[in-house]
Amino acid sequence: MDDKGSEKKELVDGMPRDSRGFWQPEKGTAPPNPLFSWPPKPGAALKWFFGIPGYLFPWQVIYMAIAILTWLYLQPALSRCVEFRIDWIMEMFVRNVAMLTIITSLWHLRFWSLKSQGLKYKYTTEWMAKGKRKFLKSSQLFDNVFWTLVSGGIIWTAYEVIFMWAYANQIIPYLDPKEHPIYFVVMLCSIQLWRLFHFYWAHRLLHWPPLYRAAHYLHHKNINIGPWSGMAMHPIEHILYFSGVLIHWIIPSHPIHVLMNTQHAAFTPAQGHLGFETFEIKGTKNVPGGSFFHQLHHRYFECNYGEQDLPFDHWFGTSHDGSPEAHQRMREKRKKSHNI
Ligand SMILES: [Zn+2]
Ligand SMILES: [Zn+2]
Repeated sequence: MDDKGSEKKELVDGMPRDSRGFWQPEKGTAPPNPLFSWPPKPGAALKWFFGIPGYLFPWQVIYMAIAILTWLYLQPALSRCVEFRIDWIMEMFVRNVAMLTIITSLWHLRFWSLKSQGLKYKYTTEWMAKGKRKFLKSSQLFDNVFWTLVSGGIIWTAYEVIFMWAYANQIIPYLDPKEHPIYFVVMLCSIQLWRLFHFYWAHRLLHWPPLYRAAHYLHHKNINIGPWSGMAMHPIEHILYFSGVLIHWIIPSHPIHVLMNTQHAAFTPAQGHLGFETFEIKGTKNVPGGSFFHQLHHRYFECNYGEQDLPFDHWFGTSHDGSPEAHQRMREKRKKSHNI
């Protein structure tokens, strides 16, 4: 018996759903990155990199622009960062919390507050949970916002502060973009891939039972996820999650690379946890929304630790592609582990 046969499909807002309200996109999860295909598929790889939507456009380019603008207009001068002083540190903290609030709220407002597209392309039929004691103040939204801004905001800023202090005191290798423009651009474009590499291994480590019980359980309280769930993490997880930036301590980099790395870590989870497959914009071909691949991780826990742009799950056999067969496999695996 497969999923289709065993569960009745209901139409809710035009979406066929199983009896528990789960909808899944027809095409399943995003395919693994063609860059790593064997035999090579150069045409598909180029399309993946330069296509719209693709690796660079639109989202990477937007995050790069935010990092550059932050450096140019919102970063305290390095001459002020020679000593740890509360004034420039607070400026960076307030800047970070404000930017994170604006970006995450934009996603939340349209899809979850105004419900502009109702349940259309939504993975579940539930909204943010209220009255559940596992969340702070029994509110999933309050809980998610608290961990994102307080724990996330402090630890993210702390990493940036240490880097700016280190650049100001010339104790880490500095890259001058005027002398090495190509290196600068290649490095800027590579940050997302490096982050996916780091995220996968950090995430595998977080599923090691002692670390899961100490920290990662907090992120997994969210089975039904929304934009604010993305950065809702325990402080131990935030320390590990943002530690990908430490690569710039060793490899010559510009502070823009540091900002791109930390901001990418801070801003992208809102979209990854959007909870909607598609961003419905009238008059356009619909724009891709959240990550169905990661949504399945929140539903089943033991699959899809990374993302398809760096397909470790595909290589290591932990990939759930959203197919009825994969759903069935996960259920059987769960039943078995519960019977032990
Ligand atoms: Zn998540
Ligand atoms: Zn996890």
